Parts: sequence; C-alpha cells; structure tokens
Amino acid sequence: CVATFLMMTSFLSTINHFQMVSTVALPDDDIFTLDIVSKIHVDHDSTAKASSDFGRIVEAIPNGVFHPTSPADIAAVIRLSISQSKPFTVAPRGQGHSARGQALAPGGIVIDMRSMGRGNHGYHANVSSDELWVDVGGEQLWIDVLHATLEHGLAPRIWTDYLHITVGGTLSNGGIGGQAFRHGPQISNVHELDVVTGMGEMITCSQDKNSDLFFAALGGLGQFGVITRARIALEPSPKRVLWVRIAYSDVESFTSDQELLISKRSNGSGFDYIEGQVQLNRTLTEGRRSSSFFSASELDQLAELVLRTGSNAIYYIEGAMYYNDDTASSVNQKLERQLEELSFAPGFVFVRNVSYLEFLDRIGREEQKLRSAGVWDVPHPWLNLFVPKSRILDFDASVFKGILRDAKPVGLILMYPMNKDMWDDRMTPATPDEDVFYAVGLLRSAVAAGDLERLEGENAAVLEFCDREGVGCKQYLPHHASPDGWRRHFGEKLGRVAAMKRRYDPRAILSPGQGIFPTGA
Ligand code: FAD
Repeated sequence: CVATFLMMTSFLSTINHFQMVSTVALPDDDIFTLDIVSKIHVDHDSTAKASSDFGRIVEAIPNGVFHPTSPADIAAVIRLSISQSKPFTVAPRGQGHSARGQALAPGGIVIDMRSMGRGNHGYHANVSSDELWVDVGGEQLWIDVLHATLEHGLAPRIWTDYLHITVGGTLSNGGIGGQAFRHGPQISNVHELDVVTGMGEMITCSQDKNSDLFFAALGGLGQFGVITRARIALEPSPKRVLWVRIAYSDVESFTSDQELLISKRSNGSGFDYIEGQVQLNRTLTEGRRSSSFFSASELDQLAELVLRTGSNAIYYIEGAMYYNDDTASSVNQKLERQLEELSFAPGFVFVRNVSYLEFLDRIGREEQKLRSAGVWDVPHPWLNLFVPKSRILDFDASVFKGILRDAKPVGLILMYPMNKDMWDDRMTPATPDEDVFYAVGLLRSAVAAGDLERLEGENAAVLEFCDREGVGCKQYLPHHASPDGWRRHFGEKLGRVAAMKRRYDPRAILSPGQGIFPTGA
C-alpha cells in the first residue's frame, strides 16, 4: 500500500520516498489505518481544479488533492507531513472563493474540505432549539446551514452576502454582512470549535477551553489549524423581509444616515440589516440595465438623479426589516418612522417584499445571471478595506471622485459601517482603531481584455493613497506581498499571531497561499 502510494504521488519527489516513509516513526500508523493514501488524488484533473480560485489571478499547482472523510483523516495527513524532515504544505480549501490564492498549496497538498460532507463525522447541522445553537462541519456551505436551521424555525444571526461559501472559509476571515452592526461578524457568533492543528492534534476550543486556539483560529486565515466543526449561535428566524434601497446624491448625508442607523440613537433601530453601495456615474449610464433589485426603469431614474445633481456618484443604503405574521401589519409603519429620520433624495426609496430565504440568497440568484452571461468565471481583482470613520469622506473624495472617477462599470462597490465593539480584539483579524469603521469592497470583475491590468492599477493607486495619507485602512480578506505588509497589517497583534503560529503550526505547513509565514520550516 505504501509502495503504491509512493509510486502514485509526486509530491515528495525530491526525497527518497520509500526510505523516508519506512524509517519515519508515524505517530499512530494513521496512514495505514485510515487509508489516507487512497484519498490523495494526484491526477492532472484533480490538481488542476485545486490550482486556482475565484479570483483567477494566481495559479499554483499542488502535488496532490486530499479527500478526507473525517477530522482524523485530516490529522493523519498533517502528521504525515510534519513527520518528514522537509514537511509538505497543507491548505484546506472550502469553495476556493478566495481572490488571491489564499487556499492554494504550491507543490503541497490541498485538502478538499467539501469531501468531508461525504463522510460520517457527525456534524451535519445538529440544532439545539433550547440552547439556540447549531453544530456544523467546517466544510458546510452557509446556504445548507440556512436550510437546515430554518427547519427548526431558527437561523444564524449574521450572514455574508453570498451563502455558497464554507463555514471554515468565512470563519477563517471574519464573515461580515449587513447584520454585523448589531451582532458583530460571524466570528463573534461562535461558541465552540473543533480544530485540527498544524501538529495534527484534534482540539475542542471555546472562550473557556483552549481559548488561545479559539481566538487565534477565528479570523485566523487558516494559519493555526483546520476548523472541522463550529457551534454557531442562532436566533428565531423571521419569515419575511422588507428589502429597501434608499438613494443619496451626496456622501455626507449617506454616511451620516448610515452611522445613525447603526448607532443606538436611531428610533427603535428599525433595520435588522444595513449595508450600502456606491454607484459611479458610468455604472448607471453604461452598466447593466437591470439588477437583482432594480428594474431598468428604476436604473434610469437613478441615472437622472446623477445628471440632475451633477454628482459623480450616487450612493444608496440597503436596509432590511424582518417581520413575521404577527408583525406584518405594523412593519410598513415601522419603515415609515425610520425613513422620517433620514435625509435621502426625496422620492428615491425602493421597497421589495420578499421571503427571508429569498433575501439571504440574493447573490446566489445574481450568480446564476452572471453565469448565463458568461461573466462569473472571470478574474476578480477584489480589494476589501476597513476604512476608519474619521477618514471615510477623504476616502470618498480621493477614491470615488478621484482615482475611480472615470472607472469602467465592471462590478460592484460596497460601503457600509460597522461598530468596532462588536469585534473581539482577542481574535486574529486586524481592524482600524476607531469605534466605527467602514467596509469598502471594490468587487470588480475583469471581463474584457486589459481590464485586469487596469483594475489592478486602480487597486494599487487606492492602497498607495491610503498609505501616503495615513488613512489607517486595514485590508479585509487581506493580501500582502511582503513581510513588511503583514507586519503593518497586524500591527500590535503581530507578536501574538507569531506566537500562536509557533505553538500550533511550528513547521509552518498550513494555508501557505496566505503568504504570511515562510513555509515548511
Ligand atoms: P476558501 O477560499 O476555500 O479558503 C479561504 C481561506 O481559509 C484559505 O486560506 C483556506 O486555506 C482557509 N480555510 C478554508 N477552509 C478552512 C477550514 N475549514 N479551516 C481553516 N481554514 C480554512 N466575505 C464576507 O465576509 N462577507 C461577504 O458578504 C462576502 N461575500 C462574498 C461574495 C462572493 C461572491 C464571494 C466569491 C466571496 C465573498 N466573501 C464574503 C468572501 C468569502 O467570505 C471568502 O473568500 C471566504 O474565504 C470564502 O470561503 P471559501 O469556503 O471559498 O474559502
């Protein structure tokens, strides 16, 4: 069996395989008992699929793709790696929806986490209706978590905009969305984790148990272990949603209304979800003529607003008000009351009445449209930033009305504030040092020749502006090409991040695509 494995795989080709495996003391003979060998696929099709991601910018071929069916399988492959004098790298891959190679393992092993769903490891959305939590596997898609919990009349409190990504993938970053102002990011809504560390140990951790690993793994960019189970907080799920977009022609009113809505000052905190978008002039005049929300005629109305006000951009708040049968009769008044507090362009309120599921899976529908138009599988040079509230108007002036002033309409720009006190600073993500900061997502696609270079140039100019002007931005879903970039990214947290790495992945084999630590020590 070992000999077959060694003949099949090329991933350890620089070493004398047979000698190496036969002389190294493997901890529990896991490799034999769990038959991990047959779960490593080294054929071209398998490795090619794991060599790129949603971003389609970076490519790196692994030497094999591992298909575990249990956490013990994952532990075994990690222990096999670290038992070598020169360990191979190991990258868990959820949906591979990262943009810059974060889930790739050049010359190493990619763990196809989705194959865990075909195993029988017992975490298939076990719901506790009494204690309001769900246990889910790290490989599970949020859309499946939603369906499973809705059967109990419950749902997680905070959602990413897109649900066809994995629990382990978003918890390794943060998991932000329009409910974060109230509940914090997804990582603030986790009670417990099972993690397989870079030492091949399977550890259960929480705020009270092995808490250093718990805090490190949440937002940990896959550096400290593989999340195989998460216990996630639930709330009673609403049935329906008033889904609202409110347009502004000036950024000052837009941001001060957003900040009011996420603060406790607002009348009854009417919205359960608050995000926002920036529509650059050319997006409205040359972009797609309908969206999952706006009809063609509504887009025309918005384009007229741009012309009338001479604004280079319009902004809209996207809000959602949840309701049930018993609150159906009062939700419209609640919306009216909330709107009275706001200073949007008169008449520019657009309301949809949809089911909760329809609302949450809105980007899933958009994906289908983009796929049929052939513009889903294209390069995505996305740039996500957290911008401190005190600098958001400078950012708007220099970026939206400067660097991107005449930008081609190729994608989406998100902009919405969050409350820092909903983030736990013991966790790994880096956030700006202000009570309120904005998530700004330049979520653009390279659809035509030359787009990628141009968009990358614009991203570089935005980052250069932030550095030069000392804006204090932090990247979300970060990518830094140099150790200095990571040093500045983590700031004061760097010492703790490095110490946790030494403790839980001392050979530096995990998630090498993040490029934070030199790999394979
Ligand atoms: P992958 O890309 O497969 O992995 C991401 C990183 O996590 C890699 O380093 C990988 O090695 C590591 N990893 C994966 N699984 C595990 C695990 N089980 N344990 C430990 N490490 C692991 N993000 C938001 O926060 N909010 C949004 O609203 C949002 N919207 C999005 C919309 C779209 C259309 C897309 C494509 C992405 C969006 N994202 C959003 C970003 C998304 O959360 C991240 O890209 C996330 O990493 C995707 O999950 P994935 O399963 O594809 O992870």
